[in-house]
Amino acid sequence: MKSRGRFAPSPTGPLHLGNARTALLSWLAARAGGGGYVMRVEDLDGPRVRPGLELAILAELRWLGLSWDEGPDVGGPFAPYRQSARLPVYAAALGRLREAGLAYPCFCSRAEIAAVAQAPHGPADEGPRYPGTCRGLSAAEAARRAGSRQPAWRFRVPEGEVPFADGVHGPQRRDVSAETGDFVIARADGVPAYQLAVVVDDAAMGIAEVVRGDDLLSSTARQLLLYRALGAAAPRFAHVPLVTGEDGARLAKRHGALSLGELRERGADPRAVVGLLAALSGLAPAGSWLTPAELVAGFSLERIPRGPAVLRAREVEALFER
Ligand SMILES: [Zn+2]
Repeated sequence: MKSRGRFAPSPTGPLHLGNARTALLSWLAARAGGGGYVMRVEDLDGPRVRPGLELAILAELRWLGLSWDEGPDVGGPFAPYRQSARLPVYAAALGRLREAGLAYPCFCSRAEIAAVAQAPHGPADEGPRYPGTCRGLSAAEAARRAGSRQPAWRFRVPEGEVPFADGVHGPQRRDVSAETGDFVIARADGVPAYQLAVVVDDAAMGIAEVVRGDDLLSSTARQLLLYRALGAAAPRFAHVPLVTGEDGARLAKRHGALSLGELRERGADPRAVVGLLAALSGLAPAGSWLTPAELVAGFSLERIPRGPAVLRAREVEALFER
């Protein structure tokens, strides 16, 4: 199977070296496997989307030497490639889940859920496990409540563990029902949750291999349940370790983690930046100058170290020394 892949940046903050590394690895996996590569802009987080940032991010990825066959700037057979333009697609998917009895309206406020929720907490991005308060509401009761409050929509999670094989981390299993409970797939204001949008898009766009940061490893089981519920074939997943600073903390400005835009402005050569990203991924010796294309031959995700990639401030400074 060809490894058609994608990168899905959010125009809510500048691209830093950690994001760029994930982009490079997802691109290499797709190209080494002979598959196409899709650029998709995830801009559903309206208030946080910064005007102009999408253009800057795409320009920086091109500067790095990456290319894509489909995307918001080049079009393609699965357009639109910007999530904010795909709301009818998500609404249709939600409609199918509702008709199948796999989604139900939830009228709880955050405070109400926190008040009745009990430990243990599931994945950090979901907050406390949803106790199922609205799971058994009758249609009449739901209709009555909808008169005074717009509901969110939750996915009816089946019991049991969800096993899957991760291309970097190996065999995984999670019990979504026990950890997260029925999770939100559409907010009360109608905006689809990340979990639903990403599954609908990857399925619609024929993505065969999702390579992304391992901060999303914990959401994969939830997404697999949605693939199953929507009758769509799930892609293979590979979660690459995050890049950290020398202190082990998630990459931040104080680690010299400049944005790609800043590196470019300060005169770094894109080949030196790609060399640094490759060195962080165990693909090239430190100090290499490379184009992404030069890394395609022989690339395999199995070569990526499973531990966090540590960015040293010294290595960032070295980008400006030749
Ligand atoms: Zn509820």
